[in-house]
Amino acid sequence: FRWWDHVRVAQKDPIVGVTEAFLSDPFPHKINLGVGTYRDDEGKPFVPQCVRDAEAKIGGCKFEELNSSAVNSKFVLESVKLAYGNDSHVVREGLFAGVPTLSGTGACRLFAEFQRNFYPNSQIYLPNPTWSNHRNIWRQAEIPVKMFHYYQPDTKGLDFAALMKDVKNAPDGSFFLLHPCAHNPTGVDPTEEQWKELSYELKVKNHFPFFDMAYQGFASGDLDKDAQALRIFFEDGHLIGCAQSFAKNMGLYGHKVGCLSVLCNDKEQAAAMKSQLQNISLAMYSSLPIHGTLLVSMILSDPDMEALWRKELKAMAKRIQTMRASFRQNLENLDSTLNWEHITTQVGMFCFSGLSPDQVKHLEKDFHIYMTPDGRISMAGVTRSNVNYLANAIDEVTK
Ligand code: PMP
Repeated sequence: FRWWDHVRVAQKDPIVGVTEAFLSDPFPHKINLGVGTYRDDEGKPFVPQCVRDAEAKIGGCKFEELNSSAVNSKFVLESVKLAYGNDSHVVREGLFAGVPTLSGTGACRLFAEFQRNFYPNSQIYLPNPTWSNHRNIWRQAEIPVKMFHYYQPDTKGLDFAALMKDVKNAPDGSFFLLHPCAHNPTGVDPTEEQWKELSYELKVKNHFPFFDMAYQGFASGDLDKDAQALRIFFEDGHLIGCAQSFAKNMGLYGHKVGCLSVLCNDKEQAAAMKSQLQNISLAMYSSLPIHGTLLVSMILSDPDMEALWRKELKAMAKRIQTMRASFRQNLENLDSTLNWEHITTQVGMFCFSGLSPDQVKHLEKDFHIYMTPDGRISMAGVTRSNVNYLANAIDEVTK
């Protein structure tokens, strides 16, 4: 019997498609601006020294002898501290439920599954645009996806009025996914004042804020500043869901280390919530590999290692900021008639360039420069040695 005749080839993820095209191009000076992984100024993957130190420290460790539940609890506690601050009330009173997850993706997926179990008739509101996988994740959990206004192509900034209107018009008690910093793909974040207004309106409407924090530290170089949105919402008394990823800010991509935490009204509720999150993950994959979780909890619970991490993270963010300035300057030096201010006003890993799909194709065909068709540039792929070539190419295709 032909069991699989109805199984068709799935649609390719846009980012995977870009990487494949890049890899098959033999041109020696090709540039990959597709994938959002941090690279150093030589275009090489970067492993922070704090991670190497932690690796060395656990090198001789016998994993089978570790108490994995203690490692996980410590990891979750340290992650929640990063989000809400070391001396936060949430942390002191234990008003959260958290579990380690398969990086940021796994945290979103687990929350979506929880949502299906406990709010089966709910929807999720995603910013337009957002990370392409958000749709897949909530679709897989059979939660209907709605979009809210976010980006304004004319200003290449935030469409705050339209965003607020959508928040007001959504049915009371809706789930809203927000990027707390370094929005992917636009690099456009609300200001502090706008976060406050948004928090207020979500409260009025009894909406639930779910923060997907995949780039903490990458917007400003400072972990606490980048958690500002979350902390504003917390101060306003929201219960918050938070997905954290250590893929970018600790360079732990392949280790897939993340955390899902949910704030609760009291300790009993937190215990119930934690048991349900654990039950869902138990049915999906039992438990996670412990190596990455151990690396992160070791770094975060050792003041010297954490200080080194903060320093290294600042340097990563700084390199990207420097490249933004240089990229814009190079374009302006070429007397480009277009306005490139958004390159430096947008923050984080990405620059939403405003290039059209045709211009993106042109860059690929004639200049061996690769990015997603929406014109998103991963600034991590820009270096001192390719920024001039990149600016010239972009100037050519936008003439
Ligand atoms: N959320 C956003 C907004 C992202 O950009 C990403 C990574 N591209 C993720 C979540 C998932 O991150 P991870 O690699 O940790 O699964």
